[in-house]
Amino acid sequence: MSVDERMVHDIVQKVMANMQISGSVSGMHGVFKDMNDAINASIEAQKKVCTMTLDQREQIISLIRKKTHENAEILANMGVNETGMGNVGDKILKHHLTADKVPGTEDISTIAWSGDRGLTLVEMGPFGVIGAITPATNPSETVICNCIGMLAGGNTVVFNPHPNAKKTTIYTINMINEASIEAGGPDNIAVTVEAPTLDTSAIMMKHPSIHLLVATGGPGVVTAVLSSGKRAIGAGAGNPPVLVDETADIRKAAQDIVNGCTFDNNLPCIAEKEIVAVDSVADELMNYMISENGCYLASKEIQDKLVQTVFTPKGALNRKCVGRSAQTLLAMVGVNVGPEIRCIVFEGQKEHPLIAEELMMPILGMVRVKSFEEGVETAVWLEHGNRHSAHIHSKNVDHITTYARALDTAILVKNGPSYAALGFGGEGYCTFTIASRTGEGLTAAHSFTKSRRCTMSDSLCIR
Ligand code: NAD
Repeated sequence: MSVDERMVHDIVQKVMANMQISGSVSGMHGVFKDMNDAINASIEAQKKVCTMTLDQREQIISLIRKKTHENAEILANMGVNETGMGNVGDKILKHHLTADKVPGTEDISTIAWSGDRGLTLVEMGPFGVIGAITPATNPSETVICNCIGMLAGGNTVVFNPHPNAKKTTIYTINMINEASIEAGGPDNIAVTVEAPTLDTSAIMMKHPSIHLLVATGGPGVVTAVLSSGKRAIGAGAGNPPVLVDETADIRKAAQDIVNGCTFDNNLPCIAEKEIVAVDSVADELMNYMISENGCYLASKEIQDKLVQTVFTPKGALNRKCVGRSAQTLLAMVGVNVGPEIRCIVFEGQKEHPLIAEELMMPILGMVRVKSFEEGVETAVWLEHGNRHSAHIHSKNVDHITTYARALDTAILVKNGPSYAALGFGGEGYCTFTIASRTGEGLTAAHSFTKSRRCTMSDSLCIR
């Protein structure tokens, strides 16, 4: 361990231990025992936020960005330490990406019509207090990303995080409120409770002062917010296939696919989860993945052992495998390899459980198909109608167009690793809340605002 690494390790241990020993987190800004108290504090903070100028909101956002850069290592370590998922190096990159590329107030624009009968504006105003539910897979990244966008829109936010990531979330929420206070803003622009549960979530969802809910997680939570009777943004599960056709640069495709799939141990919902390869290039692709990209080819016996390990007897995902490295997963089935092994690969039918299920771990099955057309059909089947993310490696624009139309997903990366869609080695802004089910796509400040028309009759037109 280097001196810097030891320092971060010590800070993380201290923060986690303090939270554990006291059993409470008093002294942390924005953290309450009771959900109703948290919501009330958020209501008070929002009364102040909505009177602030856009410039004042930007000053807070810019301090949030600064603190996110400064705390990237601590937050990454806390996330891995608390959830057991992902890897520190990639989580650090995700925090820098969040700090740099999540848009602020510039994302919100006004529409104007002027003419003989006056001037009409459509301005995007805040919903007020937003209720947000966040996943264990990107805990602090999602909280920071949501906070920047929601605050830019003039809102405050009440979080009900995944219980397995509550300490990381509490640390992040404290950091965000410190940024607000330092910039002259109010405390409690983001709040949460010490012990988030389904009950605290239900209180939040039912509260009459919360008019917008934002859920980032699996199908259960998205269905819960969509059944609440309130406006809801649902960023749900995916199972992104990546199709490789005969026109692709196969060597580059192998590298991009393994890089995308192994990023943060495959936790991002957009990451490549299975390959569909046209027969004529499938062997070459597999060879490049194994010979140049640190992939381990799993035999039938190892695949069977992985199925036994990765799923519980009832067929649910074993949380002890989610977000673990290929090295750890292989050790669980009795295979010892070094850290140079980044991904487990094999060839199988599309129905193979390690291919059909969204695993969120670096296991990449490849389905061989006779033709591009069969590949599209297979990829549509594997995506399970989530309409979330799909990727393709091809030089044929007709193939790319056909694939994009058939998959109909919020994200489609062509000839690159999946994370290019988050602005990491690709153009465009970053978000960790991709509203696949409700259609907002990659959420940003504008997603957290409501439309207000303001009309002046017969005046203010100076054309
Ligand atoms: P999860 O669904 O187990 O939990 C997500 C959040 O929802 C947690 O805070 C959890 O406590 C809460 N929750 C779960 N069921 C609930 C219910 N019935 N009522 C209220 N709250 C409920 O997911 P996870 O393991 O934390 O994250 C992984 C899942 O999230 C994957 O399916 C992944 O694809 C998805 N995800 C999607 C996006 C996106 O932007 N679309 C981003 C990250 C993760």
